Amino acid sequence: MDYFFWLVRGNGRTVLVDCGYTEERAAARNRRIDTHPTELLARLDVRPEDVDHVVLSHMHFDHIGNVGLFPNAAFSMARAEFDFWTGRYSDRPCIAWAVEGSEVRAIDELGRQGRLYLTDEPSEEIFPGVRLTKLPGHTPGQLVTEVTTGAGQIVLASDAIHFYDEMELDRPFSIFTELEGMYRTYETLRNLAARPGTTVVAGHDPAVMTQFERAADECVDLTKRTAV
Ligand SMILES: [Zn+2]
Repeated sequence: MDYFFWLVRGNGRTVLVDCGYTEERAAARNRRIDTHPTELLARLDVRPEDVDHVVLSHMHFDHIGNVGLFPNAAFSMARAEFDFWTGRYSDRPCIAWAVEGSEVRAIDELGRQGRLYLTDEPSEEIFPGVRLTKLPGHTPGQLVTEVTTGAGQIVLASDAIHFYDEMELDRPFSIFTELEGMYRTYETLRNLAARPGTTVVAGHDPAVMTQFERAADECVDLTKRTAV
């Protein structure tokens, strides 16, 4: 399983979709970080202070671990997601294992600082060409980010699909809060993928690294598909 986060640049904005997880969390969960997110951004000439917005696709530890690295950023998340992880049953072990309490509190703190936007909309364009759509199943407020580019629509599925097989074979991932929603989400993503000029990008599939051209070491350019 690969772990990704995405950089969206254009219209004077530097936006991240998710921000990876920390070395500390990697060690605690027996994962490995090959390269720190700030190093990956440096390879694309981006400093942490250049990032002005971070979309948090959902609250799982591997997507929100580094919110503290971006001093000038505001953050977006679905309110349904925030409410779930701060809600009445969020401490139950079968729910709580996928998040870190300290990281949930860090998101809460962003809210107190006025740096967190919680969307209530099923689908909302937060900046021209950047649309967030709620596709629940994996989590209650899982967001998919659709970006308009010169090379068509890029749909950053995040964990709405971890692997392409989920969408293509209708094969649910083992971690979900709502199975029916997950099937509905796969259907939506299949329809999006069938739309001309649209590319759906899975959240953890190593195939992503070979489907697109290299932008820098360990970075791919989603606007450039490799020849098949
Ligand atoms: Zn994930």
